[in-house]
Amino acid sequence: MAAATTACSSDKEGKPASQGTTSAATASKVSDTGTFVPKYERAMASDLAKEGKEAIQNNKVLEDLTDSLEAMYKLPKDIPVIAKECGNFNAYWDPQNQSLVLCYEMFAVAARYAKAQAEQPTEQLGTTDIFNLYFDGITRMITFHESAHMAINLYSLPSTGREEDSADQLGTLVLLTIPGPLGAAGVAAAADFWFALSDDPESLDARSFADEHSLSQVRAYNLECWAYGSQPDTLDVLVNKPGDPEVKGFLPYQRAAGCPDEYKRMKSAWESLLNPYIKTSLGVPAASKTPSGTPSSTTQTHSTTPTR
Ligand SMILES: [Zn+2]
Repeated sequence: MAAATTACSSDKEGKPASQGTTSAATASKVSDTGTFVPKYERAMASDLAKEGKEAIQNNKVLEDLTDSLEAMYKLPKDIPVIAKECGNFNAYWDPQNQSLVLCYEMFAVAARYAKAQAEQPTEQLGTTDIFNLYFDGITRMITFHESAHMAINLYSLPSTGREEDSADQLGTLVLLTIPGPLGAAGVAAAADFWFALSDDPESLDARSFADEHSLSQVRAYNLECWAYGSQPDTLDVLVNKPGDPEVKGFLPYQRAAGCPDEYKRMKSAWESLLNPYIKTSLGVPAASKTPSGTPSSTTQTHSTTPTR
């Protein structure tokens, strides 16, 4: 997997002033008159783009993604969600045109990774299940991450940290709204993907550390922490506990200890910011938390040995 495939890399230039409804005083009057509008553009130049288009158009993947966004956000106007050929692996919020762009190359790379993971079916999950888990988890996480950039821009949300880290937080919270363990398994699948994209530590340089994105390894561990923190009673399969043969996760137990509180604070903060602009709660729905011991049939698929 190419290392230099960092999504969300071309959305930084020329951010215009927000065109959304912004101040706290007017937030309660946010209109919801717009919708997300899926649009497939042509893929002409590269085989990778054509592969990505083929992977999503017949299966109406873009329509499924826009349905998920539609269920979450109130929109003051229509927002196009455009699948297009970009020339590289990418996805971004386009502030000039006020649209979400999801590149065919991103879908193709996600599909290839999911297919590779599915070559190792488990007792609980067959090839198709594993492919869907990874493909859905990765593409939803990336889409929801970009939707966070949209929300920050469209609603002029305040921020005290790096926007990329904030977008990973909100992307995770939106993915976790999928009921039951599947939302968390999708987050963990996306974490595996980020591990696979990680640069070799020996190749890291000043640009790596100065990048506006956190290192892929850091992003991956954050996702695992938040997935685990959302349902610690049932997802300790994600945690690495030395000496416990039943637990084979990757998340160091030292970090895991603080993840439930980290998740709660993150969810509370984002809900405070977004409350006027969303239609449903963020994070794991309270009623859908599963009894202890039952969700590992999905999360145990993350037994790959990603680059770390
Ligand atoms: Zn981003």
